[in-house]
Amino acid sequence: MTQEEIPKNKDSRRSFLKKFGLISAGFVAGSAAIFSAFNFEKGKEKSGKKTKLLTQDNKLVEVDTLSMEFIEKSPLDTNQEQGREGLKGKKWVMVVDLAKCKNARKCIAACQHAHHLQPYQYHMAVLQKTSPYNMPKPCQHCDNPPCVSVCPVDATFKRQDGPVLIDNERCIGCRFCMAACPYSARVFNWFEPKNAEADKNLAYNVELNVPQKKGTISKCLFSADRLREDKLPYCVSACPNGVYYFGDENEDAVTNGTTKETARLSELLKDNAGYQLMEELGTKPRVYYLPPKNRTMPFTPSVDEIESSTV
Ligand code: SF4
Repeated sequence: MTQEEIPKNKDSRRSFLKKFGLISAGFVAGSAAIFSAFNFEKGKEKSGKKTKLLTQDNKLVEVDTLSMEFIEKSPLDTNQEQGREGLKGKKWVMVVDLAKCKNARKCIAACQHAHHLQPYQYHMAVLQKTSPYNMPKPCQHCDNPPCVSVCPVDATFKRQDGPVLIDNERCIGCRFCMAACPYSARVFNWFEPKNAEADKNLAYNVELNVPQKKGTISKCLFSADRLREDKLPYCVSACPNGVYYFGDENEDAVTNGTTKETARLSELLKDNAGYQLMEELGTKPRVYYLPPKNRTMPFTPSVDEIESSTV
């Protein structure tokens, strides 16, 4: 197509762009909010320098740099950028008190409801240990996350405030991150997600991972959408037994989701011999555990029994 054939008025140009599906640098790692398009007003000038762009239907095209212009970001692009950056000055941390977990599984239910997960999909697992005691296990939001370094398309990333998130619009479902995670914290969406039909027109929210997408990875997000609203994560608020503390390491303060009492993080860990899972691996988890000493509950061995009483 010659320059003369390219439509000049705005509406025609829009339909032309739609026809050829031209988006571009949004695909390139680290430049998610930069979009470029042909600048039809610049006439026939050419610089001779070419830039490679990816079309919506995955065709690589070359464009003269003088034929490009940067266009305004949409509010959606800005939201995605904020979702990648995280909250300045914060370092979110979770403490799980194993002495208090009665396997009520309210944390799981709240998480599944918020993220539109099927009943068989878990961002939070409650493991039953032989001692016996119950051990809730979300993503550990490692400061040195092996899952992030193996991702070939920058779909999973570590934010400045601690959470490790995943962009389901970028994920190609290779599952390298699942293999790299020593905590088995990631799940693969093998089937259509819950609410697929109802959610299909929703704008994707990277802090909530809704709509979920078949063929991509899903995981605990530390409820990044709730943190942006200055609220505790879904699981932390839903627990009836005071198992979870959550807060900001920079302030050395964590709040119990049930009692709403605030404690000094450093003292809570020191006084109760807090520890991290597999810390010898050097992953630097942001989730701490308090050992199940002086348990306040009898052990409940039957997951099926609990699940049937909580639905
Ligand atoms: Fe990644 Fe697994 Fe660490 Fe979560 S627990 S940050 S998924 S390595």
